[in-house]
Amino acid sequence: MARYREAVCRLCRRENTKLFLKGDRCITSKCALERRAYAPGQHGQRRSKVTEYGIQLREKQKTRRIYGVLERQFRKIFHNAERTKGITGEVFIQLLERRLDNAVYRLGFASNRIQGRQIVAHRHVMVNGRPVNIPSFVVKKGDVIEVAPKSKANKHFVSMMEKRANVAPPHWLSLTAGELKGQVIDDPKAADVGLPVREQLIVEFYSK
Ligand code: SF4
Repeated sequence: MARYREAVCRLCRRENTKLFLKGDRCITSKCALERRAYAPGQHGQRRSKVTEYGIQLREKQKTRRIYGVLERQFRKIFHNAERTKGITGEVFIQLLERRLDNAVYRLGFASNRIQGRQIVAHRHVMVNGRPVNIPSFVVKKGDVIEVAPKSKANKHFVSMMEKRANVAPPHWLSLTAGELKGQVIDDPKAADVGLPVREQLIVEFYSK
């Protein structure tokens, strides 16, 4: 399972946007972007003219990094969105939001998507009563997502539920916190990403 292995704060600095890849740390003064709000590397503080292509590229990279998906897989998801009925940009965001690692994060079982991915890969999650260890698994309306019975007493999940006691899941998910169980009740929307994503620019980028 390929994944990005470098320091993730560099990604936020490159996009000059908080991508919230590290959970709680992102909302403290330890956030790297609070301390060094410029791109990493020797030329990070240089200003250069941004072309239309550059704007589209940055939007694509930002979105890809939010979901922690590598380029090949990201492009594959885009092509799946193109083949699906509906507005490509909206379907694309829906497919990204409906990834199991993202749903686990949205339900509050993980503090960020990277952790969500790990939790799924380590077989702590079941979908419709069956263990699923594929982070890219796409959940659909009606699916029940829950922490596996053997993992329910795990300190991580207990503390995650305590921390998230006052945080409601997004409109497309329902949560029974006491049972560490959630359900997909609607289709996610672009606004559910929680960060400004201009999906049309990504469509334009891949349509060239
Ligand atoms: Fe991004 Fe979070 Fe690192 Fe800040 S702490 S730079 S928001 S990953």
